[in-house]
Amino acid sequence: MSVKLHCAYDQRDNLRYIGDRLEKNLKYFCPHCKEEVSIKKGTIREHHFSHKPNSNCSATSETILHFEAKHYLAEQIANLDGEEVIFSFNLGKYIPALNVLNKKAGINVNSNISLYEIIHFFRIYNSTVEAIIPESKYIADIIAYSSSGTSYFVVEIFVSHESDKPKIDHLFNKRIPYLELIPFFDDSGKIQFTVHGYYLPGFFDPYKGKVDNAFLEQLYPLYENSLIEMAKRRIDEEEILKLKLLAVQSLKKDVEKDSLYSEVITALDEYSMTTNIQNEMTLVERTEILEEVITRFYSNSPYLVGKTSKSSLVIRKETQMFKKIIDQLLTQINISVLIGKTMGQEEQKEGIIGFELGIPQPSQLSKAIEKALELKLDDYERRFEKKLMGRK
Ligand SMILES: [Zn+2]
Repeated sequence: MSVKLHCAYDQRDNLRYIGDRLEKNLKYFCPHCKEEVSIKKGTIREHHFSHKPNSNCSATSETILHFEAKHYLAEQIANLDGEEVIFSFNLGKYIPALNVLNKKAGINVNSNISLYEIIHFFRIYNSTVEAIIPESKYIADIIAYSSSGTSYFVVEIFVSHESDKPKIDHLFNKRIPYLELIPFFDDSGKIQFTVHGYYLPGFFDPYKGKVDNAFLEQLYPLYENSLIEMAKRRIDEEEILKLKLLAVQSLKKDVEKDSLYSEVITALDEYSMTTNIQNEMTLVERTEILEEVITRFYSNSPYLVGKTSKSSLVIRKETQMFKKIIDQLLTQINISVLIGKTMGQEEQKEGIIGFELGIPQPSQLSKAIEKALELKLDDYERRFEKKLMGRK
């Protein structure tokens, strides 16, 4: 059994629709099997083209639906028509305000948009069916060309299977607008479409602007007076002081909670500041973390050994290295020398028995920073409080 056709080719190879004004004495042919078909325009049944009783046509209703939808749309596009082809789009995706209205007031977020509007927006002027999408290996059901000739628009008809993901990805990546539509015949035998997927860059922007403007136009008169009041009010000095005081107090709380302070330490850590002290004419092979330095003796002469978790190694040319450490430190900090004598040898000449370095002990450094910060904040707090008191 063969299915009903809504369109057929005439003798001049033009696709004609059953709704067109058709001449009964002309011949019409099935687009699929090329057999001659006859016009059925009764009063009860839907108008259609019908195969002869002994037809061998194997076209399924799906094949026919796909074919008819594709050619119908391509023709609408080529004629720059499409005012009667209406698609329903969910505008909530583009206009958050609509979603709010939908949730609070049950307002419909779907908007009916005609094919004509889309054709117009993308400046389309012609179309072909079953064409290769430029710079790809994919075939589109319909390619519509823009009047600039450099851009185009793709339409896919989804009857039995939707477009492959790679094809859709290609369209997205190349910023090629497309519509993927599910066709169906309505009760009157007219073809209609449900939007299955789409990419219409920029198309919905004016809708968003329209809704935003409408919102503002409605809101402004409602809040006009309070807005003017707000604009007139000057934030006075006292208020600023109160805000500053609040800021300092919340900062102090953060310092007390250690959270801010640990953030500072973490930030410092990221800089991994190191300085290398190295003997001349030497090559570094690896580094290990020093655990302690011990003094050893060789024939009564002391020498130093550095211990790491893995090794115990002689510190070479320690006096040269010591000089370098002191030189390095002198460029940045104050160093005092501790002058004195060896205990029990008071007749000995005075000498340098040590150094006082103008840096806090590393273990105390974090506490020192915390204390300095606290003092500074206390100072600010007092100043703001004093100013506020003076104003009363
Ligand atoms: Zn046929």
